[in-house]
Amino acid sequence: MTVITIDKDICTGCQECTKVCPVFAIEGNPHEAQKIVEERCVNCGQCVQKCKSYISLIDHGAEIYAQKRAERHLPETVTEPLFAAYNVCHLEEVIEALKSPKFTMIMAAPAVRVALAEDFGMPLGSLTPGKMAAAMRRIGFKRVYDTNWSADLTIMEEGTELVKRVTGGGTLPMFTSCCPAWIKYMEDQHPSLTKHLSTCRSPQQMSGPMFKTYGAKLNKVDPKDIFVVSVMPCTAKQFECSRPEMNASGQRDVDVVITTRELAYLIKYCGIDFNALPDEKFDMPLGDYTGAATIFGVTGGVMEAAIRTGYTLITGKELSDKDVDITPVRSTEGFRTADIRVGDLTLKVGILTYLKNIDPIIEKLEAGTLDLHFIEVMSCPEGCVSGGGQPKLVLDADVPEAYKNRRDATFAHDKNLPKRKSHENPAIKKVYEDFLKEPCGEQSHHLLHTTYKGSGGHH
Ligand code: SF4
Ligand code: SF4
Repeated sequence: MTVITIDKDICTGCQECTKVCPVFAIEGNPHEAQKIVEERCVNCGQCVQKCKSYISLIDHGAEIYAQKRAERHLPETVTEPLFAAYNVCHLEEVIEALKSPKFTMIMAAPAVRVALAEDFGMPLGSLTPGKMAAAMRRIGFKRVYDTNWSADLTIMEEGTELVKRVTGGGTLPMFTSCCPAWIKYMEDQHPSLTKHLSTCRSPQQMSGPMFKTYGAKLNKVDPKDIFVVSVMPCTAKQFECSRPEMNASGQRDVDVVITTRELAYLIKYCGIDFNALPDEKFDMPLGDYTGAATIFGVTGGVMEAAIRTGYTLITGKELSDKDVDITPVRSTEGFRTADIRVGDLTLKVGILTYLKNIDPIIEKLEAGTLDLHFIEVMSCPEGCVSGGGQPKLVLDADVPEAYKNRRDATFAHDKNLPKRKSHENPAIKKVYEDFLKEPCGEQSHHLLHTTYKGSGGHH
């Protein structure tokens, strides 16, 4: 599946995109149209964020603009400049499903709620989960669920997997697996190392099969009639949902992925005044989430969430409120490590952000000198808050402020939620009691875990 394209008619060959591409997947001569080498591209969309060559309705005329808009499958209500690097939009399928008798369910990743409002003129990094839920309901989705719910589920599974590997002699270090750009990179470039990846699916791909099995039961609908839409800050998630093995529910687990930008297009297409919306809640129980889930959107967040729950899994005790902030893992440095005391164990962790920084880590892993238990990797510069599907920052000068504000809003959201550890989420406790039985058990293995090309199993 091609996710990211550079339009040769619009590209001026400025090569700004080649500078941000973490895997050197863009080729071409200066001042000529650039081309993406699909086998190397990890679909992160950083080139889409960076691209400055565009056509506009005013400068280039309605005819060519309409043609380019149609090629990208954008709705006709879109009138903003179209940049050379882009991802194909899947809103048509969403609009069709909304008109059909399908039982539509929507969810959004943690980083969407700290950036969506930017596309409606609100300050960079505005936190608007309540308006987002209200908008989704007014668009017509039958259930407004949340990827944050499945981020909490991911922590239960991934935390348990880590404890099993550490105490049972499994492959270490274990790497996080929630970033599909990182997964594609490992499968394509280092297949002999994929046994180091956690077998957990990403939160998006945990939601899909849970919505179409457990969610189908809760709503008393046939899984075949459910249509799951995922809103992501991420273009690589579009690739992930199309992977052939992502059908554990017996159906396509997630039907369509749209980006944060495209949710904004859809809200505008439906004529909804976003800024005037009241704050509404997500639908329960699959929209319930803790602070641990919300920090998945920033670099170090998955690690921090995993430690909050891992501590309890290992020691049987709870981290006190004052110890819940795991500050040693909080920074935006490309690679950092920390020793975390967990009962009698010293957990050695690493956090890598921006895939540009990966080479020295792979070298150490291959040499057997990477003395760590658990490593979080996110492909984008500061994690998903800076993802390729987020509102576009046309001015480079806005980038540091936008990233900082989105990050601050994420941590503020975490701090203000009543529960801040994934294992305290009542909806997660209930799903284990009623349906999954235990983390990393048989049902979880089937619905929530996966295998990888190379040493991490075969499809
Ligand atoms: S999507 Fe990411 S990996 Fe692919 S060409 Fe663009 S920047 Fe490079
Ligand atoms: S860091 Fe987040 S937004 Fe970026 S590619 Fe990975 S999952 Fe997607």
